[in-house]
Amino acid sequence: MSLAGSFGGQRSLVLLASAGLVSLFALGLLAFSTPSGDASAGRRLGRHKPSKRHRRKVYLRGLYNLGNTCFLNSTLQSLSALSAFSGYVDGCVAAIPQNSAGSGSVDAVIATQLKHVLDLLAPQPHRVPAHSPRTLISSLSRRGQWVASRGEQDAQELFQMLSSALRAIPRVEEASLFDIGFLSSDRSAKGGGCSTGGPRAKSTAAAATTTIENPFLGMAASRTACVRCGYTAAIRHFTFDNLSLSIPRVRNTSVEECLALYTVIDQLDDFKCRRCAIVATLERLKLEIEGARSGLAGLADKPRKARRVEETIDRLLEQQRRLEDALATDPEVELAGIQLSAPPAGVSTRQTMIARPPRVLVLHLSRSIFLPTGGTTKNPARVRLQRFLDISPFTTTGHISIAASRPISGPVPPTGEHSAATLADARRRNCLYRLCAVVFHLGAHDSGHYCAYRRVGSADSDPSRADMDSVLAEADRWFMISDAKAVEVSLADVLGAGNGYLLFYERL
Ligand SMILES: [Zn+2]
Repeated sequence: MSLAGSFGGQRSLVLLASAGLVSLFALGLLAFSTPSGDASAGRRLGRHKPSKRHRRKVYLRGLYNLGNTCFLNSTLQSLSALSAFSGYVDGCVAAIPQNSAGSGSVDAVIATQLKHVLDLLAPQPHRVPAHSPRTLISSLSRRGQWVASRGEQDAQELFQMLSSALRAIPRVEEASLFDIGFLSSDRSAKGGGCSTGGPRAKSTAAAATTTIENPFLGMAASRTACVRCGYTAAIRHFTFDNLSLSIPRVRNTSVEECLALYTVIDQLDDFKCRRCAIVATLERLKLEIEGARSGLAGLADKPRKARRVEETIDRLLEQQRRLEDALATDPEVELAGIQLSAPPAGVSTRQTMIARPPRVLVLHLSRSIFLPTGGTTKNPARVRLQRFLDISPFTTTGHISIAASRPISGPVPPTGEHSAATLADARRRNCLYRLCAVVFHLGAHDSGHYCAYRRVGSADSDPSRADMDSVLAEADRWFMISDAKAVEVSLADVLGAGNGYLLFYERL
C-alpha cells in the first residue's frame, strides 16, 4: 500500500512478516490485563496507579482486508477512537433529510454506512468477529473510483474524502468559523476525549444540534511581509481539516519539530511589495515633475507648448497626491490610471500559524521525498510523539504581530518539559491535545502496509469535564490493529514507534 502520490501496492502480509510483527499478531484478539503507559511520563506528571476497574477486558473488532484495503481499515480504526468524530457522524446522519432525494445521495449513504462501521468498532467486553467493510468501500468508490482500485490508495486521501463527504451532506449546517470568532477562546465547542466504548449515544437527534460542527475544521492564518519596508499585506485566513507537515531529513525528530517547520518564518526572494512599488513610483514621479518644471522655464515664448507641460505637471501632481494618500492610509487601494514602477528586488517573509485550533487535530506526516530523477522515495525518519501535545507555540494566541521579522503571534510559552501546570495553562488556551490514534506505514514508499494504533480510554471518564489531575491520572490503553487482528501494546510502544503517517489528537 503506497504513500501519497505513489504507485501500485503489494499485498500487505508479506511486509508485515518482514517487519517482524507476526509474533505479536499471533496473539490475535487477546486482551491483556497489564496496565500500559509511559512510566517515566507517569512519574513526571504524578500519575496514579490505574485502579482495577481500568483493567477490564476490552476487545476490538478487526476489519478484513479485501485486497489492498489496509489504508481504509487503519483510517476507520483511528477515526473510531475519536468521540468527537463519532458525535459528528451521528449528527450528520440525524440531519439527513428523510424521504427526499437527499437521503439517497452518495454522501448520505456514506455517512450512514460509516456510522454503522463506527458502531461496530466500539470496544467490546467480549471477543467479536472481524467485519467486512465491503458495503462502505462500494459506496466510497462511487465518490472516488480509486478507493476500490488495486493501487495508489493513500490513508490521507481517504481521510480527506470522508471529511468532505460528511460536509457535503444536504442540510448539514456547520457553524461558520468566522461567526464563532477564530481567535476567541471557544470552550463551548470543546469535544470529549477518546471514549472507550460502551454504548454510543443513541440520541442522534440531540447530537445533531450539539455536534454538527466538523471536529477536524480549524483555521490557519498566513502573513506575508516585506523585510525592506515592513509592510504586511492583509493576513489571509483559510480553513483546514488536516495539516500536512514536512519531516526534516534526519534520522530522529519529533512532531513538535515538524510543527515548528510548518510555522517557521520562510524567506521569499521573488516578492513584489505593493508599498515598495508605490514608494518607487513616487520617486519616479518627483523626478518627472522636476524635469517638467525645469523645461517650462525655456518655454516663455511658446505658450501653447507651455500649457501642455503645465497640464502634464498637474496630472503628475494629482497622481503624487493619490499615491501619498495610499501610503498614508491603505497601500492596497485601487490606483487606476497610475502605472506602478517595479519595486527594487526585495525579500519578504511568510509565516503560517494555527489561528483556531480544531477539536480534533489531524497531522499528516508527509514522508514523500521527490528525487531529481522524477521518482519518489520514502522519508524513513523516526518521529517521536507525545502523549499530550501543546500547540501554543504554533498558534497566533490571539495577538497578531505585523513585524516582518517577528512571528505572527505574540509571546509564546517556552517549549520543553511538560509539567501538570504547563499542560493546564495550554488547556486554558485551547491548545492542549491528547494523542488518540495513529495510522502508521510499514515498508517502502510504493509498497507496504498501513496499520493503526488506537487508544482506548476509561469508560467512566469525560475529559471535557474532568479536571487536569484526572486527565493526567487516566490510564491509557493502546492497541495495534492490522486489518482483522488487534493486540494490546504499551503507550511507550506507540510514542516511540516513530513511523506515524496520520496522527489524531483530540483537544482536552
Ligand atoms: Zn516593502
